[in-house]
Amino acid sequence: MATILDGKNLREKILSDLKNRIESFETKPTLVVILVGENPASKIYVNNKKKVAEKIGINSQIINYPENISEQELIKKINELNENKNVHAILVQLPLPDGISKSNVINAISPEKDVDGFTPYNIGKLFSGEKPKVYPCTPKGILLLLDEYNIELEGKHAVVVGRSGIVGRPMAQMLLDRNATVTICHSHTKNLEKIIKTADILISAVGKNIIKGEMLKPGCVVVDVGIFKDENGKTRGDVDFESSLKVASYISPVPGGVGPMTITSLMLNTVELFMNNS
Ligand code: NAP
Repeated sequence: MATILDGKNLREKILSDLKNRIESFETKPTLVVILVGENPASKIYVNNKKKVAEKIGINSQIINYPENISEQELIKKINELNENKNVHAILVQLPLPDGISKSNVINAISPEKDVDGFTPYNIGKLFSGEKPKVYPCTPKGILLLLDEYNIELEGKHAVVVGRSGIVGRPMAQMLLDRNATVTICHSHTKNLEKIIKTADILISAVGKNIIKGEMLKPGCVVVDVGIFKDENGKTRGDVDFESSLKVASYISPVPGGVGPMTITSLMLNTVELFMNNS
């Protein structure tokens, strides 16, 4: 029976340490989150980030713009925040409405305040094997979780399913930096099942329930990033938990695995940027 990779427990531990550290700071870190439009899921995410930030002593502000704000106005605000010495971390909640270029907006954030690690400077550093100002939150959280359970990565075959800019691609690079041998899969991958069967470490970030226990290599480590509601409204991941529990050595649940670690990384990144710039 696999050991559960408990993201909730690790979140509490890390955030409690972080809260103590922040208490000792004379000035407090400030995180500004920009939300454009009324996307209900985005609103929940943004409010949750604010709630967690405030709980541990990070000042946080949500700037909510209407859907019809222009790209220029948005970039003007980001430039103001870049100049504001009291703001240490800036996050633009994605997705942005049609008509606003995600890359133009993200590119406007100063790399020194880029709490998601998504600006070209930080991504460029990451993909050239150098240290970015901060690492993207979800893959960073996954590595924290694997490290907590002393899971060896060096020399292991890590299979990453999904190649998005926020999860799959940075995850693959960060595993490579930890000396894993990495295969990246996506919707055009042939023989996905065969590749999954060879994974010592399987990270799945797809958003569809595509992985069953019988597809796994016995004893592998499974990290399920996917999260979606099934037809009965139940929160599910990419991996069939019950059947995989019997085959894997470690498995992260959904919910309670990667999700809590993503928000934890956001808080850690806010404090890192604050420390670097004060
Ligand atoms: P995304 O941008 O939609 O990317 C999904 C990836 O899955 C794409 O690369 C796609 O391939 C691939 N894919 C789709 N169907 C596939 C299939 N049948 N076989 C193999 N690969 C397939 O999604 P994302 O933003 O990375 O998010 C992925 C999931 O993780 C979502 O459920 C999201 O909600 C969740 N998520 C969770 C957290 C968290 O903190 N827990 C954070 C971020 C994301 P192509 O590139 O070929 O289209």
